[in-house]
Amino acid sequence: MSNYRIFYHPDTISTTHSFDTTRKGADVAEALASQGWLISTPTPLSVAEATQTHSADYVDAIVRGTPRDLAKSQGFPWDAQMWHSVAAQNGALRDAVLSAITGIPAYAVSAGFHHARSNHGAGFCTLNGLAIGADIALKNGVRKVFILDVDAHCGGGTYSMVHDYAHIVHLDLSVHHYDQYPPTSPHQLLFVNHASDYLTRLQQLLSYAEVDLQAGDLVIYNAGMDPYEGCDLGGMPGIDGVLLQQREALVTAWIRRHQLNVAACLAGGYNGADFSHQELIAMHVMSVTTLLQ
Ligand SMILES: [Zn+2]
Repeated sequence: MSNYRIFYHPDTISTTHSFDTTRKGADVAEALASQGWLISTPTPLSVAEATQTHSADYVDAIVRGTPRDLAKSQGFPWDAQMWHSVAAQNGALRDAVLSAITGIPAYAVSAGFHHARSNHGAGFCTLNGLAIGADIALKNGVRKVFILDVDAHCGGGTYSMVHDYAHIVHLDLSVHHYDQYPPTSPHQLLFVNHASDYLTRLQQLLSYAEVDLQAGDLVIYNAGMDPYEGCDLGGMPGIDGVLLQQREALVTAWIRRHQLNVAACLAGGYNGADFSHQELIAMHVMSVTTLLQ
C-alpha cells in the first residue's frame, strides 16, 4: 500500500466543452502514471453530498440544465455530461480529503473550485470542492482546516462559503485582483505586487496560520499554476518555473514541519502562446510529485 493517494476520475473530461479546466486532468494523470505513480479512481460526488454546501436549486440546474443561465454560470456551455464531469472532479477532492485526514497525503487531479458560490458558479468554477472538502473534514472530527489558495486569482467563492465557519481559516495568496473580497480575521488575502516578493509573501501568509495550528490539522491546498509568467490568465512577469518549484518545496516543508495533513488539487493553469500544454502539464506534475514524494 502506498503512502500517498492520487485521485483522478475519467469522467472529468466527459463534458464536450474543451478547456484546460475540463481537459488537463487526463494528461496530468497519464503523465503521473507513466512515471510510476499509482492513480486511484474516486467515487463521484453525489447530488446529496453537493447539497450539503450548495443550494439544491443550483445543483439541480447543473444536473438538468435548467434554468440554463444558472447551469452555465461558471462560463461553460451546458451539456448532459456537465454534472458527471463536476461530480468526478469534486469527488476526487472529497476522497483526497478523506485520505488526508487518516494521515495519508493526497492529491486530487482536478480543478475548477475556488470561484464557485453556494448558489451559482463563476470563473470556470462550478462546485466549490474546497468548501465541500473542508465541511466534510469538520464533520469527520478534524480540529481545524486551513484552505491555502495560491492560485493566481482570489478565492472569493471559497471565502463566501467558509468565512463564518469557526474552524476553517482561508489563506489566500494572489497575484491578480479577480474575485477579490475584504477578508475578516482570521482569514487572510495577501497580494503579490512583484515576483521578487512572491515567496516572502507566502511565508508571511503561512506565519498567520501558525498562531493556531496543531499537528493533525488539515491543509486543503489549491495549487494553481496560473501565476506562471507565461500564463495569459493571471500570470505575473518574473514568476517562472523555478520560483513555482520553490513555492511547492516551501509549502511541502511547512506542512511536514508542522505535521499537518494535506489534500491538494490542481486549480488554475491555462496554456497559451507563451505556455504550451506540455509545459502546463509538467508544472502540475511537479506540484504533485513535490508534495507527495
Ligand atoms: Zn486562477
